[in-house]
Amino acid sequence: MSTFPPAGAEAAAILEVLGCPLPQTGLPSPIDGTPMPQVPDHADPAAAIAASVTAFEAWRSVPAPVRGLLVRQFGEALRTHRDALGRLVTIETGKPLSEGVGEVQEMIDICDFAVGLSRQLYGLTIASERPEHHMRELWHPLGPVAVISAFNFPVAVWAWNACIALVCGDSVLWKPSEKTPVTAHAVQALFDRVAKDFGAPEGLAQLVTGGRETGAALAADPRIPLVSATGSVPMGRALAQAVAARLGRSLLELGGNAATIVCPSADLDLAVRAIAFSAAGTTGQRCTTMRRLIVHDSVYDALIPRLKKAFASLRIGDPRDPETLIGPMIDSQAVAAMASALTRARAEGEVTGGEQLDGNYVRPALAELPAQSDLAREETFAPILYVLRYTDFAQAIAIQRDVPQGLSSSILTNDLREGEAFLSATGSDCGIANVNMGTSGAEIGGAFGGEKETGGGRESGSDSWKAYMRRQTQNVNYGRTLPLAQGVEFDL
Ligand code: NAD
Repeated sequence: MSTFPPAGAEAAAILEVLGCPLPQTGLPSPIDGTPMPQVPDHADPAAAIAASVTAFEAWRSVPAPVRGLLVRQFGEALRTHRDALGRLVTIETGKPLSEGVGEVQEMIDICDFAVGLSRQLYGLTIASERPEHHMRELWHPLGPVAVISAFNFPVAVWAWNACIALVCGDSVLWKPSEKTPVTAHAVQALFDRVAKDFGAPEGLAQLVTGGRETGAALAADPRIPLVSATGSVPMGRALAQAVAARLGRSLLELGGNAATIVCPSADLDLAVRAIAFSAAGTTGQRCTTMRRLIVHDSVYDALIPRLKKAFASLRIGDPRDPETLIGPMIDSQAVAAMASALTRARAEGEVTGGEQLDGNYVRPALAELPAQSDLAREETFAPILYVLRYTDFAQAIAIQRDVPQGLSSSILTNDLREGEAFLSATGSDCGIANVNMGTSGAEIGGAFGGEKETGGGRESGSDSWKAYMRRQTQNVNYGRTLPLAQGVEFDL
């Protein structure tokens, strides 16, 4: 018997405390099926876009370090409410409490990053070939930015985008996943309070709830120069075409199919922990979840039985219990998709684990498949680790690369040559490449994103901010003549 209150009621109580109550008539909580608070769909997305344009026109003239102060205050509000919001993330998504709170911590981290960035939106000066000329690049605010988010990170990925966009001088429209709008509602309410006290323009950051049609409406609107979207590859394909049709910009963070190579010299104690967290953690519902394990023949028999034992001992249960490592999947469709992939896996190889328990709870599975398996080339958003065997290093790299997606990857080795070769141009083809760790759990300081069908976008740290601004090349003639570039003559 669970010692916790019904999940939906607890979510409603948290919203009360946060001062943004909602009726408890929404989707079933993945934890126990009780109804979550219901966030109504936005009544008028077109009006929200118009307000966003007006807000942008005021915000772009506020000095960037002052814009940073707003994000700093928002970060402070998140700090104050971190645990309540983290618990809400857990109740809405089913991820364990430490990961729910970790997601809010990630928002706080990106606030800190953005505040620093607000004083570092550096341009360039460039040597001009013309005498008495200066040439430079200046970065200007871009306009309203639409952020479309996925269910599995219901608030952190919005924050990666929104905090950077706000210091860059943009306004923000947020279309959260229709599966997880509740934490988005709470975060937006918090932002609204901070923005009001700050005196920010009305409509600077807005929540535009709804289904895929609402997302599609944002994608199609020419008043939105940048659409940053996180989700599945089919979503990205449809969205990219809609944005490109009006020659807008899209920033895509789509599906992954992360692989880890286990080499003969790998530290197997470290390997078991790294693999269990990356493959089974968050119930396999991270874009960076390790889905393929490429194991050298010489360590296969030492590693795989240990992994099976570790998978069998993972504590599955109510994610509000601090002892729980594996919470439920998001909904019954996700459970069915896992079952269907496992049926195919059984036809190709040997499956251990993967049992469906009560409700949306499942046991993570290991599926030992032939190295050339087509099933392993697909992203099934579930805790299934496909185990593939290799004999030489070049073959391991070839298997890692032989998928349509290109988000995250890692290698477990104590051989410097293998580690560096994995990081070289002929090694991993992913946006993220790790050595002696798993494939998931990125820090906000690096640029996050992937290649191929993952969409090519980069968000969060490093110089990702450049996607949220427009670059202007400026030329100034401070002389009295008019020399032309490339020595062109045009004398009147
Ligand atoms: P999804 O594609 O079903 O939905 C994502 C969002 O897109 C939702 O808000 C949805 O309403 C919206 N949407 C769907 N179709 C649309 C359209 N045609 N136009 C505009 N918006 C549309 O994805 P999901 O099930 O919520 O999330 C899981 C997927 O997201 C996985 O494939 C996972 O790998 C991926 N993901 C990627 C990253 C990354 O950073 N690369 C991060 C998290 C999740």
